[in-house]
Amino acid sequence: MQANTQTPERKTLDERNKMTELERIRHSCAHVMATAILRLWPDAQFAAGPPVENGFYYDVDLKHRITPEDFPKIEEEMKKEIKANHTFEKIVVTREQAIKDSESGRLGGLTERPGNPSKFKLGNLADIPEGEPISYYKNGDFLDLCAGPHVMRTGNIGAYKLTSVASAYYKGDERNPQLQRIYGTAFKNKTEMEAYFKMLEEAKRRDHRKIGQEMGLFTIDSDFTGPGLPLWLPKGGAIVEELEKLAKETEFAAGYFRVKTPHIAKEKMYLTSGHLPLLYKESMFPPMSLMEGDSRDRIERAAKAREEKLQLQKEDNFADAKRIAELDEEIIQIVARGGFLSDNYYLKAMNCPHHHRIFAAEPRSYRDLPLRLAEYGTCYRYEQSGELIGLMRVRSLNMNDAHIYCTEDQFAEEFNAVNDMYLKYFKIFGIEKYVMRFSTHDPSRLTGDNAKFVNEPELWKQTEDMVRQTLINSKINYIEVPNEAAFYGPKIDVQVWSVIGREFTLATNQVDFAVPKRFGLVYRDRDNTEKTPLCIHRAPLGTHERFIGFLIEHYAGNFPLWLAPEQVRVLTISDDEALVKYAKAIVTELRSHMVRAQGDYGNDKINGKIQRAEEAKVHTMLVIGPRDMEAGNVSLRLHGKGNQGAKPKGEVIADILAAIKERRP
Ligand SMILES: [Zn+2]
Ligand SMILES: [Zn+2]
Repeated sequence: MQANTQTPERKTLDERNKMTELERIRHSCAHVMATAILRLWPDAQFAAGPPVENGFYYDVDLKHRITPEDFPKIEEEMKKEIKANHTFEKIVVTREQAIKDSESGRLGGLTERPGNPSKFKLGNLADIPEGEPISYYKNGDFLDLCAGPHVMRTGNIGAYKLTSVASAYYKGDERNPQLQRIYGTAFKNKTEMEAYFKMLEEAKRRDHRKIGQEMGLFTIDSDFTGPGLPLWLPKGGAIVEELEKLAKETEFAAGYFRVKTPHIAKEKMYLTSGHLPLLYKESMFPPMSLMEGDSRDRIERAAKAREEKLQLQKEDNFADAKRIAELDEEIIQIVARGGFLSDNYYLKAMNCPHHHRIFAAEPRSYRDLPLRLAEYGTCYRYEQSGELIGLMRVRSLNMNDAHIYCTEDQFAEEFNAVNDMYLKYFKIFGIEKYVMRFSTHDPSRLTGDNAKFVNEPELWKQTEDMVRQTLINSKINYIEVPNEAAFYGPKIDVQVWSVIGREFTLATNQVDFAVPKRFGLVYRDRDNTEKTPLCIHRAPLGTHERFIGFLIEHYAGNFPLWLAPEQVRVLTISDDEALVKYAKAIVTELRSHMVRAQGDYGNDKINGKIQRAEEAKVHTMLVIGPRDMEAGNVSLRLHGKGNQGAKPKGEVIADILAAIKERRP
């Protein structure tokens, strides 16, 4: 297994204060787990034990390799600590005291451990800035260096479970020792924990990689196409097409214009946008260096002259001295004609810069605004191969992208319209639970070595206030998260929950006050002055990859009719010629209305045909026997819902077309 190099940054005091009750329970449980491990292996040395998504971990250095077989034993010891209901007692100390207690092995231990100093705690101590208070937390015998916060008592941990072991480097740095990372989770009570594990099991059953393969939706061909570059098979392609159609119709009605841009751009594009040289470089594929026309010719000629010269020199023939001088002269001439120009091209990691150039392509006036440019653009991001997961983390992304250029006065209305679009989509897909995570900047990171945001304090304040006010006015469910904005402006990540209660981050919505300025984008205002527009980046349907991955789990592959890869299958109960003709005419009629219909006309048993169609999750089955044919009927059958009885053919077809058009759930 590859050791983990990802370790969350040290939490600020402000972030600690914002830890939720559940995070406090989980982090407290990490202390209890460490206590239990020490009861079993007293020489264990602990490093860091933060809460993480869905649980907690604690990194430990220990000769014994902890395996899941050890979990019951550790959990048994944890039970005793929780039953004892120890308080989490906070003790504020001086740095000198903390160093002394580390050296004696007391920190992250149950007792002093002569000859076994708390080396990782010493290292953690060094990360605490001068002036920040240093504190211990003590539960029972266990004393730990920790800034908190915790729950009041160990008894507040209602339910817990150890889940897995991984390895991790101390502080996430490969040069440091490798530690064992023990993961667990904890909840307020047993009921909540059971619901969580049940949900995980259901998620496994609905895993998009499993269903995607069974249904033939997509494939990842690592050998030929490359890892993280999914290929949509015809059935997945059908879903892609439907989503694009939905987006196009919705955006058209909302006054968007569609544009189309290439997949690559010159380095200058990303130097201007600010993604290069540094901010985004690691997420981009390495550049393609392209030398064009004259530069290439000259390089070839110079190389040839040099080769001839070297050959003559090797032969060491004085008679060639004149020729060598000629060649030297030629090389000097070629080089003197100027540098060799090459251009670096990058695969686009985002569509915005291309759209900005479209804005810049024509003179713009206030009458042109808001200008909404939309494109299902393909972006390429370099993700570490170890981090690629099915459709959820990929290297090529088809993004439901659009950029809205507007004035400050128009901002609230545009921003609200985008939010309304989200809500409309949620309704179509039956997404009932969602939250908008509003990420703002950190004023301490505008300048200096760890600068993360463009240095425009006024504009940050102004746009963040605007977004916050709009969110409050629209009564949308949102939370505010500091320090996670995009580098060019505040950002909203939309998190949704699938039907089984699993959380996904699907889409983002960003306000950009910096990049339009860097690109020199202007419009002529009423007063005839040039002004820079604001830009809203929005992608309500996220990327095809992530959104379809989500939908597969959400529907467990049982897509509503409008999205189903195979919408209708017409099944004959025999291969009788007249029957097949009647069935084929129905398929033809459906296809003429763009319905994805197939026929199964063989002479095998109808029950077998139905079973095959059910397994393929075909939404609607039309079963045809002689009596149906004579009456001009079809026997309607719905996937997972069984026989719906015989109905007039025309009525059934009309209903299928209406259900698709209305995108019925
Ligand atoms: Zn703690
Ligand atoms: Zn963008």
